[in-house]
Amino acid sequence: MKMQAALWYGPEHMQVVETDVPEISDHEVLVKIGASLTCGTDFKLFRRGHPMLAKNIPAPFGHEMAGTIVSLGQAVKNFRVGDRVVAANSAPCGHCFYCHHEQFNLCEDLLFLTGAYAEYIKIPSRIVEKNLHRIPDALPFQEAAAAEPLACVVHCMDRIQLHARETICIVGAGPCGLFFVQLAKQMGAKVICVGRTPEKLAAAKQFGADHVVSVLDTEDPVKEVHQLANGGYGPDAVVEAAGMPETWELSTRLVRKGGRVCFYGGCAKGTQVSLDTHRTHYEELNFFGVFHHTPFHFAKSIALLSEGKIKVKNMIGGERRLKDLNQVFQKGVKETPLKIAIIP
Ligand SMILES: [Zn+2]
Ligand SMILES: [Zn+2]
Repeated sequence: MKMQAALWYGPEHMQVVETDVPEISDHEVLVKIGASLTCGTDFKLFRRGHPMLAKNIPAPFGHEMAGTIVSLGQAVKNFRVGDRVVAANSAPCGHCFYCHHEQFNLCEDLLFLTGAYAEYIKIPSRIVEKNLHRIPDALPFQEAAAAEPLACVVHCMDRIQLHARETICIVGAGPCGLFFVQLAKQMGAKVICVGRTPEKLAAAKQFGADHVVSVLDTEDPVKEVHQLANGGYGPDAVVEAAGMPETWELSTRLVRKGGRVCFYGGCAKGTQVSLDTHRTHYEELNFFGVFHHTPFHFAKSIALLSEGKIKVKNMIGGERRLKDLNQVFQKGVKETPLKIAIIP
């Protein structure tokens, strides 16, 4: 059987080609993709490649998807043909040094799954076992596909340990920034969102941000954010969700004395930023990075989506067919709405 699938051949070169529908073995599952979602990571990969997601060329492409099981191996007992499912884009090995320390996202042998921009995808046994979930009939595929990025945000919120009386500042109003806004509001915190694109800041407001601050319209965003948080002391927690050296540095300046900064947005390899050591020491600033998700956070993310607690619908700025994928990526991430649903 043949199918259409997108393959990445190198920087700015991707093509939707006819290829074989993958064969599955005893412990694997074949999913007919209902919808996949574009993601900032895919745009990065499209332009410059990715060390983990595009190891061999041509590389399958896309990592956020949901669909229906059309066939399964004999040894797969927990699923049936016809199940509507969402699969994570990775699964940890379960027996390396980091897995033993329950830092599953840091697994030395994290198995990645790409190929979401296709008609079918084979789910490898390890993901079937650890990171494949049924979804309710009422949850559309394109919303379920957001489980992956939401899982990363849920993971990060877990590390931040936000309290209801606190103020959090989210730097970046992309899809993940908007997930942070929603989760922080649900925890009862006060939320300030810092960004540059007016439409995205308007979306942050819509999703519940108490205040939005535009770095383009404000002379001194640090002063502005401080005035809005804790009566001038500044936010208790800051999340960097833009992935740029300038915003990493900005985040360290935004946080209050004794506060915590979570670096969620990844910068290009080799990037260095500078740090005010005096403030970091004498003002006890806490910095930490958070990467990716774990099976626990992926399951939690699906529960939030299934229960309708997190809204994805307004983040999806339209649908495009798989055959038109190239046009979506040629335009680049800046000209593209938050997310686009790709329908095979
Ligand atoms: Zn993603
Ligand atoms: Zn491991």
